[in-house]
Amino acid sequence: MADFKKIEENLKKEAKRLLEAGEVTVVLAYSKGFDEKHPMPYAAKSVADIKNIVFNEYCNHNMARYLVRYPQGTKIAVAVKAADSRAVIQLIQEEKVKRENLVLLGIPVYGMKNSKTGEVIDSKTTSGLCNPVLYDILLGAEVHGQKIVSPYEVLAEYEAMDKDARWEFWKNQLDKCIRCYACRKACPMCYCDPCFIDQSKPRWADKAPQSPGNMMYHLTRFHHLAGRCIDCGECSRACPVDIPLYLFHKKVAKECEEMFGQAAGMKLEDKPVLVDFRVEDSDKILE
Ligand code: SF4
Ligand code: SF4
Repeated sequence: MADFKKIEENLKKEAKRLLEAGEVTVVLAYSKGFDEKHPMPYAAKSVADIKNIVFNEYCNHNMARYLVRYPQGTKIAVAVKAADSRAVIQLIQEEKVKRENLVLLGIPVYGMKNSKTGEVIDSKTTSGLCNPVLYDILLGAEVHGQKIVSPYEVLAEYEAMDKDARWEFWKNQLDKCIRCYACRKACPMCYCDPCFIDQSKPRWADKAPQSPGNMMYHLTRFHHLAGRCIDCGECSRACPVDIPLYLFHKKVAKECEEMFGQAAGMKLEDKPVLVDFRVEDSDKILE
């Protein structure tokens, strides 16, 4: 496992330095929750707040989620694991945040765990990367020598299903949805305000947690995240009824990567794949 204590120490040290120097007005990191297994997203705004910062194997939240809550121009330091750094890149590509306003506190890490199940999530629900893709300051030694697992390996069983079985699978899963919207709240790429599902004119779907409305909410959300999901897995972990949303997002991400040769949030110079027309692009998306 990664040296979580060392990372926590370095996180506190850098947060203190940045706040004291006035380089940022807020540091987005983690604080203790009701127990060690449930740390919480935390915004440290003063040196006095630094003592509350923690980092352990349950700090799964994607802190990039909170960047869009601050007015443009706010100087922010944000703790980023691999997937979180991809979210930052994607948000920069989508012009929701500017690179020059951010200090990225990179966290190279493996051995992260799901708070609910205790299972290691490194390669199942997340993108399988250990090191942040982009950072300014690295809070630990880069991780090398871990088994490389394709983020799409977990799709094998799902892909073996035929069309009818997949429809049945998703219908059963989405029927469980209680429409708490925790998936939307946890997702760094779900920032529309208002979300289509909260609009009343036009009213896109029924808000009651019933089959047709659930299907409409999720299929639209899946569609909105096509080419944008950075595979942090937070939506699935946030779901109180354990709907494996990551399967759908990964499947769409895989198809996008195959069609357009680009994974979301991997390079600053990329453009979001579905708003970037290239004559050589595959027409498979129209099928
Ligand atoms: S859809 Fe889920 S896995 Fe993808 S970026 Fe949002 S929270 Fe992360
Ligand atoms: S978190 Fe789960 S139950 Fe809540 S809206 Fe999302 S899929 Fe439905």
